[in-house]
Amino acid sequence: RETLLEVRDLKVHFPLEKGILFKRKVGAVRAVDGISFTVQQGEALGLVGESGCGKSTTILAISRLERITGGEVLFSGVDLASLSESDLTRERQNFQIIFQDPYSSLDPRMRAIDIVAEPMSIFVKKGLLSLSEEEIKEKALSLLERCGLSSIYANRYPHEFSGGQRQRIGIARALSLGPKLILADEPVSALDVSIQSQILNLLKDLQKEFDLTFLFIAHDLSVVEYFCDRIAVMYLGNIVEMASSKELNDNPLHPYTRALLSAVPVPDPIAAKKRKRIILKGDVPSPSAVRPGCPFYERCPKAMPRCKEVKPILTEQGKNHQVACLLYEESSDA
Ligand code: SF4
Ligand code: MG
Repeated sequence: RETLLEVRDLKVHFPLEKGILFKRKVGAVRAVDGISFTVQQGEALGLVGESGCGKSTTILAISRLERITGGEVLFSGVDLASLSESDLTRERQNFQIIFQDPYSSLDPRMRAIDIVAEPMSIFVKKGLLSLSEEEIKEKALSLLERCGLSSIYANRYPHEFSGGQRQRIGIARALSLGPKLILADEPVSALDVSIQSQILNLLKDLQKEFDLTFLFIAHDLSVVEYFCDRIAVMYLGNIVEMASSKELNDNPLHPYTRALLSAVPVPDPIAAKKRKRIILKGDVPSPSAVRPGCPFYERCPKAMPRCKEVKPILTEQGKNHQVACLLYEESSDA
């Protein structure tokens, strides 16, 4: 399989300013602080972490809806971060976002069919796609149907649908330009648990049918484990661990990953006993604080004095398993 998306040292920093008349820069919120990863064609990579860890900002930055401070976003080898607006528009048909909130992400004044048709109409107007109005309508109808909404729903407005149905509309819209990559920002976390698995299964079927590649964000580890081949765990704008879903589940190394995993309910009572709940102290600290050492230092149950000074980098620990934690560093400073 070839690499579809390669993110290299991506940074998104928001300047912090003080003063009303004379603004001066007093620091930066390091929302995404130099992350690197690749996603292979047809693969689903999960990004997990608590809210505020930089997951959504990562997706927005990749799609250039958020300003990139540094780094590269290579999509099939083309750096999206340095594309002109017009080249970017053309490239956009290859990657589409599914948003978290199916309530606010759909235009309430548009009918379902028009919501799905709109991206195609826009591309036709820009001369980037040649489809007749009839063809657009047909394609929108068939996408709605493929996503579980028959034609009787086509002329209804968003408020006439349930949350799960609205997300189906959002998914059909995301597919309308035939993208290769889907950036899914917590696509099921606003939905009832009973609906979540239906939507996840729909996404899995669509992945096979259309050979889609996913960057899939969630704060719920069990959702990503179910959906994704590999998982990257984020904390305060950094990736702290990355491995296959199975390896991460069987052999979590980073203290933060262990705490996240310990919160996932395990159906097997023996396994549940082994997996003691780890409660972290405090909340995720502010990403604006200057932190020379490990981003997890304040909350880490295993923290050592060195961790406050030295920032651990992602290093290989076994096959396709990387972790950024000084506990696993070979002592090279002897
Ligand atoms: Fe904890 Fe230190 Fe590892 Fe950071 S480097 S996760 S503080 S043990
Ligand atoms: Mg978010």
